[in-house]
Amino acid sequence: MNILIQKFGGTSVSSNSRRKQVVSKVKKALADGFKPVVVVSAMGRKGAPYATDTLLSLVDDNFKADNRQAVDLLLCCGEFISTVVMCNELNNAGIKSVPLTGGQAGIITDDNYNSAELTDTKPDLIESILAKDIVPVVAGFQGINKDGILTTLGRGGSDTSAAILGVMLKAKEIQIYTDVDGIMTADPRIVHSAERIPAMSYNETFQFAEQGAKVIHPRAVETAMKGNIPLVIKNTMTDSEGTIINSMGYRDSKKLITGITHVAGRVQISIRLRDNTKENYKHILKILGDNNISLDLINIFPNEKIFTIDEKDKDNILNILTSMNMNYTMIEKCCKISIIGSMIRGIPGIVAKIVDALEEKNIDVLQTADSHTTIWCLIKEDNVNEAIQILHDIFL
Ligand code: ADP
Ligand code: MG
Repeated sequence: MNILIQKFGGTSVSSNSRRKQVVSKVKKALADGFKPVVVVSAMGRKGAPYATDTLLSLVDDNFKADNRQAVDLLLCCGEFISTVVMCNELNNAGIKSVPLTGGQAGIITDDNYNSAELTDTKPDLIESILAKDIVPVVAGFQGINKDGILTTLGRGGSDTSAAILGVMLKAKEIQIYTDVDGIMTADPRIVHSAERIPAMSYNETFQFAEQGAKVIHPRAVETAMKGNIPLVIKNTMTDSEGTIINSMGYRDSKKLITGITHVAGRVQISIRLRDNTKENYKHILKILGDNNISLDLINIFPNEKIFTIDEKDKDNILNILTSMNMNYTMIEKCCKISIIGSMIRGIPGIVAKIVDALEEKNIDVLQTADSHTTIWCLIKEDNVNEAIQILHDIFL
């Protein structure tokens, strides 16, 4: 079957006029001879009546902590509504469609409520619907466990649903429709002159997603890569060709840097050696790891260890460091900027150039690190937009 997955994000299904655009994308897929499978997110972004965070705000925090299965049932509602509203719109356009929950579409997961993992797929029902030339409209972000209880797939889950269905149905392509023209050289909300990247490899895209470009979720990229199904990021509101993602990517020899991303909410911790805490100092990184605290930008010196953590882990780490009598300092509200490019390490003096450009504008660089494909620098959150703009002007 000539299957095409078309996933539409929250803004794409948020209003009548946008849903009309969705219908036109589905119509085009049908006219081109594809059998489309539509995947939808909950309608609207943060604050909208059926958006995920609004639903979450309906119940108390202590209830949420102890009732993750119930929370998943609540969270699934936003996508249920979207599927039916979208089917209504397709029906008005004369396109036969049927709404499906994630479980009905064959996404079977483990019991890890709130961030469940795929364990199995059951394509029979959705394949029988496709065989009848009916368009399935699938609720994104959710699955069902082996006992039939609804689960959700965690952040960015609708992208992951689309990728899972693409691999399960051996689709020709997985199209992710959103409100920008594709993956851009920087978040277009920060850098207005950001440009669309025409093509990227799975690996590079994974790096982008992992380092904060929220336009696509890393798990979706990983899933598509494993199944070797091309992913395309497109704009629901335009006819831009989008960004095509496959194993090859695109080599533009003039551009050594592909783009810039960032992750906010980082906290920098520096631990200094003190004679009476030598043993604890030696094992501290392992102890933090054993406590499920994930560390990043780790620099180790004989008398000092510096790293960053997510701010959600702050209280936990402070308790541990205090109880072990560690000598530490902490800088909160930091932001990690990633400058990504497949050849980046080969550029002489690039780290110095980055640091000089930022410091010239009085933006302190708290830490740097580099790999073959990425240079990271840590700055204070207040400076992030300006810093990204400066780096974009220099390199892209
Ligand atoms: P959807 O609701 O369609 O899933 P998201 O909000 O998850 O949309 O992702 C789209 C947003 O990602 C864009 O509006 C854009 O601001 C943001 N974004 C961040 N970095 C990038 C980037 N490098 N390229 C494109 N968009 C980006
Ligand atoms: Mg998204």
